[in-house]
Amino acid sequence: MGRIGIIGGSGLYKIEALKSVKKISLTTPFGKPSDKFVTGKLEDKEVVFLPRHGVGHRVSPSEINYRANIYGMKKLGVERIISVTACGSLKEEIKPLDFVVVDQFVDRTNHARNMTFFGRGAVAHIVFAHPVCPELSLVLYQSCKNTGVAVHSRGTYINMEGPAFSTLAESNLYRQWGMDIIGMTNMAEARLAREAEICYSSLACVTDYDCWHAKHESVTVDMVIQNLSKNIENAKKILIELIRKLPRHRECSCKDALKYAIITEKKLITEKTKKDLEIIIGKYL
Ligand SMILES: [Zn+2]
Repeated sequence: MGRIGIIGGSGLYKIEALKSVKKISLTTPFGKPSDKFVTGKLEDKEVVFLPRHGVGHRVSPSEINYRANIYGMKKLGVERIISVTACGSLKEEIKPLDFVVVDQFVDRTNHARNMTFFGRGAVAHIVFAHPVCPELSLVLYQSCKNTGVAVHSRGTYINMEGPAFSTLAESNLYRQWGMDIIGMTNMAEARLAREAEICYSSLACVTDYDCWHAKHESVTVDMVIQNLSKNIENAKKILIELIRKLPRHRECSCKDALKYAIITEKKLITEKTKKDLEIIIGKYL
């Protein structure tokens, strides 16, 4: 069984229940990850944890080296990633302290061109219509239910650039577009995970109503932190339940995402690119 990766967002910098903990520093062809990877055992399964913003929250959403983070997970044998993330709600019925199992993303960042492993003489176009793993997301949703929290089985996450929160006009625009929640980090991870044939699911913890709601104050860091500290204990319970329930082997199509995606003639891919991407494309060359 491959390892299970957990990427912790704002408020989740450590998982106390991990046993036999080791810290691993990695460098990658894409540079340095957000922090050391923490490996250990949870419910008898091998887990790798990484705090997305670094311990102490030092790395902003625009500065996160998403490629290095996902590459590092792949290198450590991770097959499935659960992302835990704070978000704002763009719908009345998605309330602060609710959880959302994200099923779609819209990218509003300025960095889309960097958020791929491909280029540099190796071009691949992955299928990304359904950007999260259906199998992992279903177990995640069931785990939320079993834990007794308020959970929404789906939701579209608009990925803004940040680090400033939205203007009122932006928040209203995203609502008109039918977006459900807003955050600053998850879409790049989902795309890179798919390229690396890693399953990806996102557990979004709602902390606020962004700034559109007339009866609620606009989001502030203070508000995010207060609601997060209430929610992070629930998130940890959900993670333990999920890891307990997760089948040992995956049956989804994420593991073959690159099978028909590489379009570059194989003999033209340079040795350097082959070496850098060995753990991702090696089996197809
Ligand atoms: Zn999958």
